Amino acid sequence: MIGTAEKPGARRPAIQLNVKTILNRIQPHVGFVFHDVRWFSRQGRPEWIEVSVRAHTGMARRCSRCQRPTPGYDQLEERRWRHVPLWGIEVWFRYTPQRVNCPEHGVVVEHLPWNEGKRPLTTAMMGFLARWARRLSWHEAAEVFQVSWEAVYRSVEWFVAWGLAHRELKGVESIGVDEIHRGHGMRASNFLTVVYQIDRHCRRLLFVGKGRSRRTLRQGLKALGPEVVQGVRFACSDMWKPYLEVLAAQAGQALHVLDRFHITMHLNQAVDQVRRAESVRLRAASKAAAQQLKHTRWTLLRRGSRVRGRARQKLNALLASKLQTARAWELKEAFSHFWKYRSVTWAGPFLDYWTYRAMHSSVPGT
Ligand SMILES: [Zn+2]
Repeated sequence: MIGTAEKPGARRPAIQLNVKTILNRIQPHVGFVFHDVRWFSRQGRPEWIEVSVRAHTGMARRCSRCQRPTPGYDQLEERRWRHVPLWGIEVWFRYTPQRVNCPEHGVVVEHLPWNEGKRPLTTAMMGFLARWARRLSWHEAAEVFQVSWEAVYRSVEWFVAWGLAHRELKGVESIGVDEIHRGHGMRASNFLTVVYQIDRHCRRLLFVGKGRSRRTLRQGLKALGPEVVQGVRFACSDMWKPYLEVLAAQAGQALHVLDRFHITMHLNQAVDQVRRAESVRLRAASKAAAQQLKHTRWTLLRRGSRVRGRARQKLNALLASKLQTARAWELKEAFSHFWKYRSVTWAGPFLDYWTYRAMHSSVPGT
């Protein structure tokens, strides 16, 4: 909500004319007029503009469900909507909606062309934010236009859903499923699931939803519709189990592609887990033994060929030891050969061999 201004509602006739002209040219709403424009300033600088909207007296209200002209019923409380900024100044719409009595739908809120449900942004503003969110990170978009991250997320979600409802999704052969993490911590609410079309001729966002559970992805696939899902030939995701399961169940015909970035990440995480656990055990046994693993975290996460100098000496000493961390690191390093294969004939047996070694190593969790 808005705070109080120093000079609330100072009316500026010249501004009023300009803003009204601009809004009428760019954002005319049939059946409604821009009635009054006020600007609010703080310390002499314009802070926000408020545009009060009124229904056209000569025109009937419309039902929000069927958009047919309908007699009025009663009045609701005044609402505000954030609109696209002008000259970088916040713009707000104010309007007091009516309820109407539609012969078919009963008593419902009247149709407001700039409104979508209970959202506090105009549809124009949501489109505006969603478009900027393709060029900036959502965080940046929120900062630049002084809205919450949630507002940007909701705008993208609305825009994508609108797109799904209004365009044909023919020729979607490849999709990518990914998770986006934001904020701190690993709570479910810190994640979003996004589904992209990643065909060469067309890359676009198809779905965004909160969380990263089976349910989230099921919702996403449902939004695409069974026809599109059945037509997918390649699905790319990371190794997050809920994604793997839902994709296998619903798009079983598609070849599931796990990308190198995510696999490498998981291998590194595994090495790190082994190192941490072993570190704890060694510290409990003897201080001297634990020294071997001290300050090795970042070295172990690098590719072997990139480790040089003193870090290399320490790594060599570690590899000569009988520590599990050393075995885990060797397994990770050995896996990098996999990416050099160009032929499935050779890559397959390598993968079998690697898996066999991992299963029969003393490393826990393999
Ligand atoms: Zn109706």
